[in-house]
Amino acid sequence: MLKYIFAFSLLLLFLASCRQEAKNGEVTEKPEIQERDTAVVEMPTAHSYSVDFLMGKYNPDTHPDFTAIDEKYASRAGMYMQKAAYNAFLDMYKAAEEEGIILTIRSAARNFDHQKRIWEEKWYGERLSAGKNAYETFSDPVDRARNILLYSAMPGTSRHHWGTDIDLNSFDNAWFEEGEGKKLYDWMLEHAPRFGFCQPYTAFNEQRKTGYQEERWHWSYRPLSVDMTMDAKTLIRDEMISGFSGAETAGEIGIVENYILGIHPDCLD
Ligand SMILES: [Zn+2]
Repeated sequence: MLKYIFAFSLLLLFLASCRQEAKNGEVTEKPEIQERDTAVVEMPTAHSYSVDFLMGKYNPDTHPDFTAIDEKYASRAGMYMQKAAYNAFLDMYKAAEEEGIILTIRSAARNFDHQKRIWEEKWYGERLSAGKNAYETFSDPVDRARNILLYSAMPGTSRHHWGTDIDLNSFDNAWFEEGEGKKLYDWMLEHAPRFGFCQPYTAFNEQRKTGYQEERWHWSYRPLSVDMTMDAKTLIRDEMISGFSGAETAGEIGIVENYILGIHPDCLD
């Protein structure tokens, strides 16, 4: 009898080790749905976010996952972000405040229409683009789009659509190089990851070769935005970019590959 119990135990151990091996294997592969026709198994879908949401086609003031940012933490009223990202920001704000650093949100969620206003003002020269009137300077649409893309996203492709990304304190990289700005930036580099925030638009280097110029003010709430980035990669195609002046340049520029995915790997995995 003892012999059988021993053999059975060995069998159990063997099965357990097989399971473990499977676990350690291909983690990205979804488990197969068993007994598909006898049970309704709600498997998590590969894409949790809709194309419309990822492309900013919603209103942050009515979206259930979003909340208004208290003016105390921002440069103006009327800005919104994802609730989870906002809660993490509040924790980070308090920690920074204890070190005498005041984080101020200058921009947060922007939907497609908002981004379209920014983009078209730059496209028609009503707003300067990297210090230039892009409309007068660049007659070729691709050149003009590339100039605007130094700092502004095409509508439908901005991380600001997601409610996870915020711009802090100043839109001038030089401000972060000395004094109060340097103190803030150094603090963010050291502590922001602890609160879930990463800097997608670092200086260009081996790890980041394409996309917007460095933006020391732009920070992203990873626990939400990593999945959104992966969904955007899977779901958004250059030819889906439309509905604004200059949209036809998206394919030649390779907007998904070079801009949506032109981020530092800290914000990718
Ligand atoms: Zn930004």
